[in-house]
Amino acid sequence: MCGSILFLGTAAAFGSLGRNLSSHLITCDGTRILLDAGPSVVSSLKKHSLTPADLDMIYLSHLHGDHILGLVFVALEFTYLTPPDKSLPLFLPEGGKEVLEQVMQIVYPGMSNKGWQKHFEFRIDTQWDFKGIKFTTFPADHDAHARLLLIETQQGKVGYTGDTGPNSEDLWNHVFKADTVITECTTFDQSIPQHLSFSEIIKKKDKIDAKRIYLVHTYEDVWEKEDQITRPFILPKDDTHWELFSPK
Ligand SMILES: [Zn+2]
Repeated sequence: MCGSILFLGTAAAFGSLGRNLSSHLITCDGTRILLDAGPSVVSSLKKHSLTPADLDMIYLSHLHGDHILGLVFVALEFTYLTPPDKSLPLFLPEGGKEVLEQVMQIVYPGMSNKGWQKHFEFRIDTQWDFKGIKFTTFPADHDAHARLLLIETQQGKVGYTGDTGPNSEDLWNHVFKADTVITECTTFDQSIPQHLSFSEIIKKKDKIDAKRIYLVHTYEDVWEKEDQITRPFILPKDDTHWELFSPK
């Protein structure tokens, strides 16, 4: 069955309310897909008795630190503690490999000699199939080569926004047309460029088909208005498991 979602980090870059930064683990027919790697992703996985070697694929939506810096610790874990059986597919925006190499060179210079890169299969595809699941990306309304993601499984479609503003036709025409959406919702109603507020999402209500819309990458103000957030919107806490799809 496909599947479940485990929220490992639901905060935006400021870690409001003590939450971890963007990382979400989807499990679909036994395939574990990590969507973004916030800085504490390794310890979050371990809280659930998993290590990065248990992952089948990592997808990085864009190159901002709150979404990718956990990769440093995934690489460290693979190099020193638990290497994966084979190189782990890592889908990331163009130039992402070079950015990770630069970061690693600065923060752990010795790692370059350890060949940490061999544990990853770096992929910059914009569309791909993996274990019977189809992935399609679209440009997002955000810096750092940000992309939107649509995941098509046999049981239904999942949209993941990464970080984006509302100015993207693909966001409303593809991602929000999925059965389930994991969307950034940085604020409740304050408009911040290149990000979404709950008010902006609600404004598009007529265009939204999704049965479950998980709100992540949230500041405190979204939690302060928690009582105004009702289905299909869901405000998940860190370290909680949810169904990916509603029964048909
Ligand atoms: Zn960002």
